[in-house]
Amino acid sequence: MSKAHRGKGIRELFAHGRGECPVCKRSNVKILYEQESGEQKFKICKTCRAAVKNGTKSLPVTAKKEPPSVEKTETAAAVETESAAE
Ligand SMILES: [Zn+2]
Repeated sequence: MSKAHRGKGIRELFAHGRGECPVCKRSNVKILYEQESGEQKFKICKTCRAAVKNGTKSLPVTAKKEPPSVEKTETAAAVETESAAE
């Protein structure tokens, strides 16, 4: 179980453990480090893990789930007419 972030161990992971780091936004970096921020867990890259530890970077703070922005154009008008019928 040594070298958890290298070699064979990460081959089984999705895309070999690579992806976009939510902190530095680089793509195709190895995101093998989990950092918790509140209730959320982030998979971040090695450099960001170090930076977060240092306090030079912080994890993206995701606010509570926002409702998907509904386009208030035609749909709003349609809802109005529907509610009027009730
Ligand atoms: Zn990163």
